Amino acid sequence: MARPLSRIFLIVFLIILAGLVAGFIYVWPRLEGSPPEISLDKPLKYLGREQRVYLKISDSGRGLAWVRVTMEQKGKQGVIINQEFEAPGVPLASLKLMVKPLQLGMNQGPATLVVEAADRSWRRWLKGNRSRREFPVQVDTTPPRISSLTQMVRIRRGGSGLAVYLVDEPQARHGVRVGKKFYLGVSPWPDKPNTKLCYFAYGEDQAKGQKIELWAMDVAGNAAAAALNTRVHWKRFKSDNIKLSDRTLRKIAARFDGVIPQNRTSLLAKFIWINQDLRQENHQVIEEASRQSQPYQLWRKTFARSVGAPKAGYGDRRTFFYKGKEVSKGVHLGADTAHTEKSPVKASARGIVRLAAKVGIYGNCVILSHGQGLATLYAHLSSMAVKVGDEVQRGQDLGRSGATGLALGDHLHFSVLVQGVYVNPTEWWDPRWVRDNVLSRFKEAGLPLPLPPGETQPGS
Ligand SMILES: [Zn+2]
Repeated sequence: MARPLSRIFLIVFLIILAGLVAGFIYVWPRLEGSPPEISLDKPLKYLGREQRVYLKISDSGRGLAWVRVTMEQKGKQGVIINQEFEAPGVPLASLKLMVKPLQLGMNQGPATLVVEAADRSWRRWLKGNRSRREFPVQVDTTPPRISSLTQMVRIRRGGSGLAVYLVDEPQARHGVRVGKKFYLGVSPWPDKPNTKLCYFAYGEDQAKGQKIELWAMDVAGNAAAAALNTRVHWKRFKSDNIKLSDRTLRKIAARFDGVIPQNRTSLLAKFIWINQDLRQENHQVIEEASRQSQPYQLWRKTFARSVGAPKAGYGDRRTFFYKGKEVSKGVHLGADTAHTEKSPVKASARGIVRLAAKVGIYGNCVILSHGQGLATLYAHLSSMAVKVGDEVQRGQDLGRSGATGLALGDHLHFSVLVQGVYVNPTEWWDPRWVRDNVLSRFKEAGLPLPLPPGETQPGS
């Protein structure tokens, strides 16, 4: 009788043991001790009126149970989000929050963004592992104040304008907006960090009636705009009809042999590719090079006029015809002058060489930056005498004129750009225009010329 009894005990013991092992296997992972991880997608220093905050909360163990984001300031607390996750917990929560400090009862000044989360671990009597991270922030919901220091800016369609103004937060990003186009301003007076200037343009391709205003955004993301007193002179550009002969098309196509895509087989298709696709590509290269600038004015009085007889002008609208049909359009974005072949091409003003290379339709092309977003371009050169990074003086040789790129005869194509936008060069050639629209602006505001630090003012 003793033997079956001990066998029963053994069986019971084994069942209990199996139960314990199964229980252990079930419970152990549920008691994992790794807390959720909390991270911000980028450092957060300031909170403006409305601030987007991206949070990532992950848990490699049992998953997240809940997440809570609050803001705290001097004993006050505002809840931004309080989210629970159903079982089984989620491994990752990507939260896109819109934080509005004023609506949360916060005031200007230091505050703390608090992120708390717990996972579905059975630790702490089923309450899970908890994480808490605090992010100190500065609440700043006051937009910068902008005020103009210029009386009135007269600007022509395709022309340049200059704004001189004050922004009461020196760290703010600022400039001038012309319709949707934004021009970034600079702070060229080291002892007056709030005094700013910005060259802008009324683009030749912009429609009539664009709003022109001063604009600023502080480090907390608060933006403000202020009216800029402007008067726009609407100018009509010249229109030219150009008939393309097979002979011309053949000559042009030969210039770009090897660059034209294989699928453009006809002479006309090749021309259209050069005049449209290549032109656009070239303009991107030019825009990028001409935007490289620094905050000081390198030039002094005016920009020297190109030598030679004036040919095509700035803004000319060109319509191309082939066998009586309109086939392509283009706008001439500079002023052409023709002199003797291979005549010296001189720097219009003191500047820094930002580009000296072959650029498609512009052929051998030199771009000078004169500071504050202002640049000049010299195209179709037969040879170049400068290299990127050189500083050149007004009148210094840049190379020789030529007919490289999309040029049928030896001439100089000269452009002026304001932050990558082509403007009318004749304004910059005219000492009266420069005096009335640029130099007198500084006088008006009681400011010295914004020259590089240490350079002597003219007449002093
Ligand atoms: Zn030209």
